[in-house]
Amino acid sequence: ENAPVRRPNGDGEIHPLSGLLFCKDCGAKMHIRIDYRNGGKRHVAYCSEYHKGKAKNPKCHSPHIIDADLLMQTVAEVLKKIEDYSISNRAEFEALVKKNLAMQQTDQTKKQQKRIPQITTRLEQIDKVLNKLYEDNALGTIPQDRYEQMSQKYSEEYYTLKTELATLQEQLSAFENAGGRAQKFLKLTERHAAFTDLTPAILNEFISRIEVHERDQKRARYAIQHISIYFNYIGRFENEVTQLAEPTEQKIRQMREEIEEAKREKSRAYHRQYSREYRARNLEKQREYDRIKAREYRARRKAQAAAAQ
Ligand SMILES: [Zn+2]
Repeated sequence: ENAPVRRPNGDGEIHPLSGLLFCKDCGAKMHIRIDYRNGGKRHVAYCSEYHKGKAKNPKCHSPHIIDADLLMQTVAEVLKKIEDYSISNRAEFEALVKKNLAMQQTDQTKKQQKRIPQITTRLEQIDKVLNKLYEDNALGTIPQDRYEQMSQKYSEEYYTLKTELATLQEQLSAFENAGGRAQKFLKLTERHAAFTDLTPAILNEFISRIEVHERDQKRARYAIQHISIYFNYIGRFENEVTQLAEPTEQKIRQMREEIEEAKREKSRAYHRQYSREYRARNLEKQREYDRIKAREYRARRKAQAAAAQ
């Protein structure tokens, strides 16, 4: 639960979601810029790696663009749902959090649990080596510069591993204390039960990160896009409660149909506009033709009159 780094965009503004958004595919931070096109003002988040330009081996192959203001609405909806549920069903909420944390534990923490004995074994080895080195140096059986070089190398490894071990143990104990985490999250929701406005401070209290997936149709104006919200204390909390905010299969189909219909309507509008312009152009040609014919007719009449005289 580190505080995210929040940076103003080019306009000196800090969006409430700044520092919380991450690209699902490359893991990079997403940046938020303001889009003034079409006379509006939209906040658009995009993967910072993709937008780093045409690198030879780009870390990310797609922009992951998302409307940050719409995303704010979704986040607010999800938070409100969790909040309502957790306050009216405390026991069920706690059980859900525990179940959820246990599920997350299986993937990530199993690896971490295996890593711990590896680290402790190596730490013991290094400790022995360092003791031996110290003895050798005291007895004068190893040159001073050699001693310094070796002891520096081993103590660096020692402290790196120590730090890694402390981090792992902290993370694991956090998972073990699922009940405590649910309680902490409940306290948080109770404190903000009446909130109406999602301030950056509240967002950061509740959310540790949001992963933005790529849209189902890239570069489409309308597409379905998934996000994963990681909450403080309770992690990724996706279940019956939050799914209320997720569209159902039927809803997705309906959304797709609406998108298709919008596309067809756009195409129809384009053709209507085109034929209108075509007719207008034709009309112009028709009038031009009439004018030419009238001129020719007058010229002929004039010639005939001249010939008659
Ligand atoms: Zn990316």
